[in-house]
Amino acid sequence: MSQKIFKYINGEITIVWKPDVCQHSTLCWKGLIEVFNPRERPWIKMNGATTKRIIEQVKKCPSGALGFLKTIK
Ligand code: SF4
Repeated sequence: MSQKIFKYINGEITIVWKPDVCQHSTLCWKGLIEVFNPRERPWIKMNGATTKRIIEQVKKCPSGALGFLKTIK
């Protein structure tokens, strides 16, 4: 079975989100609503904060649903 993967890019990093893995812990949007807002589409807004701040928040995801890759230029 293939796993759903969504990608969000800001030119420096790519955020990878796996909805099937997400435990809806709410940590990401309570921590950084400017980027992670489940009421909006797309729910991840890559221009809502600095790359550093986004990475900081992604690392707090308890389930591993959020991850990031450095964008290769
Ligand atoms: S922090 Fe991770 S597990 Fe929690 S809602 Fe966000 S993506 Fe899902």
